[in-house]
Amino acid sequence: MSLPDVVLQAFYAYDQLRDAVYLIDPASGRILLSNRSGCQQLGLSQAQLSQQTVFSLQRDVVDLEHWHAIVAAIREVPDYIFCGRHVRADGSEFSVEVLSHLVTWGGQEYLLSQVRDLQRRDAVEQQLRSREPLLNFALNEATDGMWDWNIATNDVFFSPQLKRMLGYGPYEMKPQLSSWENSLHPHDHPHVMEAIRAHIHGQCSAYQAEYRIATRNGQYLWVRDRGRVCLTDDEGRALRMVGMVLDISEQKQLEQRLLALASHDDLTGLLNRRAGYDQFEQQLQLAGRYHTPLSVALLDIDHFKRINDQYGHQQGDQVLQRVAELLTSRLRRTDILMRWGGEEFLLLMPHTHLMDGHHLCQQLCQQLADEHWSHSAEAVTLSIGLTSVQPGGGNIAELVHHADQALYRAKAAGRNRIVVAE
Ligand code: GH3
Ligand code: MG
Ligand code: MG
Repeated sequence: MSLPDVVLQAFYAYDQLRDAVYLIDPASGRILLSNRSGCQQLGLSQAQLSQQTVFSLQRDVVDLEHWHAIVAAIREVPDYIFCGRHVRADGSEFSVEVLSHLVTWGGQEYLLSQVRDLQRRDAVEQQLRSREPLLNFALNEATDGMWDWNIATNDVFFSPQLKRMLGYGPYEMKPQLSSWENSLHPHDHPHVMEAIRAHIHGQCSAYQAEYRIATRNGQYLWVRDRGRVCLTDDEGRALRMVGMVLDISEQKQLEQRLLALASHDDLTGLLNRRAGYDQFEQQLQLAGRYHTPLSVALLDIDHFKRINDQYGHQQGDQVLQRVAELLTSRLRRTDILMRWGGEEFLLLMPHTHLMDGHHLCQQLCQQLADEHWSHSAEAVTLSIGLTSVQPGGGNIAELVHHADQALYRAKAAGRNRIVVAE
């Protein structure tokens, strides 16, 4: 029986399928055609296959009468499924599930059978089953929490470990995107959502973000979140995304401590000179750009050497710490105080005219005068040189030079006083 072109062409499409597909003559039971998987399953060439019948192929079809009964059943029941055993070229057998129906092409009736190798499916299921412990471990025990987001419905599966990380029990946290999104720190929310959007629209190969997320008790955790789209529709639109969340709070705390150590003075906790210099530059730029006043003061403890000499270096350290505390307590939120040198401090007063700066410096001196010092009945005093940015700006070196000259004159005039630069 030679096959019309229309049938041959229709059959090409089946070459892509993993299941075997056979075209069979319902009357004789002869195999007319097979797709590529059919040849592979049986270990036969197309030419060898066309010599076969359902009787040589199928262990469980006994004779023509039995075959006709099967065809009659197929005619009756749409999607008739027959379970049996197929025989390979080498004589070995394998279990199959056969889905058959009758088709009419070019006026001729054929039987079209789709054959699934059950052993192969069993092997895949077996493999999956053997992975179950690993999957369970990943979901419950691994340090990373996992999520699985259905982008169309916004349903999200949160793994038990992810819930535990955020302080929730296994039956808490609604499986919805909002449960997660509403917990994001407001500052981090925009960059996190942007990172997801960029990945979903194919602008980057994976999603990764570090952000703060609120736990059940309202405290924030720092996490690193990574994810990837795992399912798209025919047009390439993202349908599903999966990811992992790792708690990086400890790492972040360490980073912040290191950052603070690098920019702050150990003894007083004030900004050190290097970090203070950066702030100074920023404030100068702002004052220049917006034409706002900026006052600058250099503060130097009077006769500090004597304190060291009389009461020891350790006592000297305590006085330095206490001076820093007292000054800080009197400052406004916008003022910036740094340790400029040994017993010398530099104070930046943004948005402050010279006279207001002078007033604040007086208050600072008073704060020290009011203190009951533990090492001595005598008060610790300051000499202060004060200057401010002139219209048209100035640079740090000039400003510090002017403040330093004023400070020198304060010392020369007897200390414990404020001198304004000329
Ligand atoms: P003046 O009124 O002229 O400023 O006199 P002074 O003694 O305060 O100034 P001088 O510059 O002569 O001495 C400052 C002293 O501050 C010398 C130095 O050993 C001491 N010093 C600097 N840094 C520290 C510190 O971190 N701890 C202690 N205990 N002393 C320090
Ligand atoms: Mg001094
Ligand atoms: Mg000094």
